[in-house]
Amino acid sequence: MPDRFSEIKKQLIQMRDELMKEVSDSYETCREMGQDGVPDIGDMSSIAYNRDVLFNLSETQQQRIRDIEAALNRIAEGEYGICMECGEEISPRRMEVRPFSRYCIECKTDIEKNGA
Ligand SMILES: [Zn+2]
Repeated sequence: MPDRFSEIKKQLIQMRDELMKEVSDSYETCREMGQDGVPDIGDMSSIAYNRDVLFNLSETQQQRIRDIEAALNRIAEGEYGICMECGEEISPRRMEVRPFSRYCIECKTDIEKNGA
């Protein structure tokens, strides 16, 4: 039986690898910024700013990586494309746009409205 998720799996793994590379690149940049002697005040604030940006960026990316890994697990468990809230199939169109979606649009909207 052909694996109907093999393409999406490949896509997810590729997305994850790219994100992981970006995250490690930002850590690299962070480290380099902290290493070149004693900066003056102007440099200090721009370093702090850049660090914040990089930190937030990598937080978002790490969250995304977790989403992707969860999606890969759900492919393995045969639950991929099924809404975790209502158990309905998530529209293929939505899965195409966000291949790591865990909820259908209705549930996602509800969850966001309730801030859960
Ligand atoms: Zn749902």
